[in-house]
Amino acid sequence: MNAVRRYAGIGSRETPATVQETMGKIAKWLADHGFTLTSGHAEGADLAFERSAGTAKEIYLAKDAEEWCYKEVSKYLDPGMDLGRMRQYVRDLIARNMKQILGKEGHQWVEFVVCWTPNAGDVGGTRYAIRCAKAHGIPVYNIADPLQLEAFRKFCKTLVVKKPEGVTEQEREELYKKQPVFEVPEGLLKDHVNAPFVPKSWLCYRCKKDLLSHPKVLEDARAGVMITGCPFCHRSYCD
Ligand SMILES: [Zn+2]
Repeated sequence: MNAVRRYAGIGSRETPATVQETMGKIAKWLADHGFTLTSGHAEGADLAFERSAGTAKEIYLAKDAEEWCYKEVSKYLDPGMDLGRMRQYVRDLIARNMKQILGKEGHQWVEFVVCWTPNAGDVGGTRYAIRCAKAHGIPVYNIADPLQLEAFRKFCKTLVVKKPEGVTEQEREELYKKQPVFEVPEGLLKDHVNAPFVPKSWLCYRCKKDLLSHPKVLEDARAGVMITGCPFCHRSYCD
C-alpha cells in the first residue's frame, strides 16, 4: 500500500518569475502531502518545481532516453516531423519527456501534470509530454490559464481528502473545507479575466460565496465576457 504517488511538474523555459514562484509553492505543498515530482531539469518551470520538491523527485535528462521512449514520442510528433532526421541530443531531449509522464520503465504513470506554456498553448518541448499524458487519460493542468490554475487548486483539495481511510462523507466534507492549499498571487487571476469590479478574493462581498465555484462565472471568464455581479445572491458589483 506504499505505492509512490507521482505528478509531473514541467513547462517552458520562458515561464515568468511570478509563475515560477507559484510552482515552488505547488511543489512544496505536494511534497508535504506525499507526492513525488517527475521533471526534466530545464531552466524555468522544471527547475522551479525541482528546487522546492525536496528529496522526493525523479529527474529525467536527455541521456536517460531509451528505446521505448523513442517509440512512444514518435506518436506525438507534429505532422512531417521525423525522429530519424533530428540531431541525437534533440531526439533524446524530447524522448526523455516520456519518462516524465510514464515513469522510468514506462509503467509508473503520474497521476496528473502541472505545467506552464505560453498562452497555455500546445508548444515547445512540453507539448510532447502534454500529448502523451492526454493520450493516457492523465489530467493536465496548464496554469498559464488562470481558470485551470483555479481548477487545480480545487483538485489538490480532493487529492488530500481521498487519503484517510474510514472517514465518513461528512468528515470528508469538513476536511475538504479546512484543507489549506498553496496561495496564488492575486495578479494571476486578475490579469487574465475580464472582471475589474469583482472582489480580489473572488469571494462575494455579500454572500461570501466563492465566485469561481460557479459554472456561469467560469464560462463567462473563458469567453471574455465581463463579470459584473454575483451569480449566487445577484449582488451587482457595478453600482
Ligand atoms: Zn453573492
